[in-house]
Amino acid sequence: MAAIVSEHLLDWYDAHARDLPWRARPGEPLPDPYRVWLSEVMLQQTTVAAVKPYFEAFTTRWPTVEALAAAPEEDVMAAWAGLGYYSRARNLVKAARAVADLGSFPDTEEDLRELPGLGAYTAAAVAAIAFGQRAVVVDANVERVVARLFALKEPLPGVRKAIRAATDAIAPDSRAGDFAQAMMDLGSSICTARDPKCLLCPLERDCRGRAEGDPALLPVKAPKKEKPVRQGRAWWIERDGAVWLVRREGTGMLGGMRALPDDGWSAKGDGTGEPPIEGHWEALGMVRHTFSHFALELTVQRSAAPEQPERAGEWWPLDRLEEAGLPTLFAKAARLALAS
Ligand code: SF4
Repeated sequence: MAAIVSEHLLDWYDAHARDLPWRARPGEPLPDPYRVWLSEVMLQQTTVAAVKPYFEAFTTRWPTVEALAAAPEEDVMAAWAGLGYYSRARNLVKAARAVADLGSFPDTEEDLRELPGLGAYTAAAVAAIAFGQRAVVVDANVERVVARLFALKEPLPGVRKAIRAATDAIAPDSRAGDFAQAMMDLGSSICTARDPKCLLCPLERDCRGRAEGDPALLPVKAPKKEKPVRQGRAWWIERDGAVWLVRREGTGMLGGMRALPDDGWSAKGDGTGEPPIEGHWEALGMVRHTFSHFALELTVQRSAAPEQPERAGEWWPLDRLEEAGLPTLFAKAARLALAS
């Protein structure tokens, strides 16, 4: 079955590969590892449509890994604003600097894993796509296709081991990158989560899930845990056409990013409710935001008599607020304050 699956899939890919700015078309020389790596990091937890403008902006501003390595971290963090999971941006800079020190990208999965922030998936994807190395590349799309193709009925996450072994069994020795990208494309366009289009699928004749019943029920998901909801406050302090912004501390939640001052909410608990300056505060409304492990209800409050807080920060002109690189949560809070 293995050779037939990869043959059917690669034939389909030759005709239907998506055109993406970080890709090489089937038959073209291998793509630039910097572009492959950058796209893979950006695509984690995010859609292709959301990533394209960021990819374009990053590669225009920093066209090579050396250029990214030389960039100040805060510029990269600000350019990343809106993509979420900000530790990825910090690791991006660290990994770029490590590659610049090495002189070029490592070309094996094992050596790629040594770079900061490169997990098993990204290392396998870069090794296969940029260097043509045989690797087992399993993202959420591939996970779904393989669970269906082999009718693997054990629930997630336990089934992942079997999915990996099955992916390994069908991965060909040549055209490793095309095969990985073909699986991703099949999962995102044909073997979709809710509505697999089996009649259009190049693997229809090979697919056990299709033969045995309703493949849309695979992979079986473990019941979702409710996310805890935390309460917090953000403080809008405006004076002379500018708003007071701070830089968040450390490497924790949104660490290193510019933000409105807030009351110290976190994944573990609610904020203190304590404002950064005394006085009368008016509630403007609430924004909701979902992080990976919790949801936040953030009340935005405005001071009636704005003074400069003692904690370090800066007055940022309102007419240039878009350039501040606020992460999505605080961009939502700022929009609410400006609209009120
Ligand atoms: S036949 Fe259907 S379920 Fe099987 S891989 Fe193709 S689209 Fe997915």
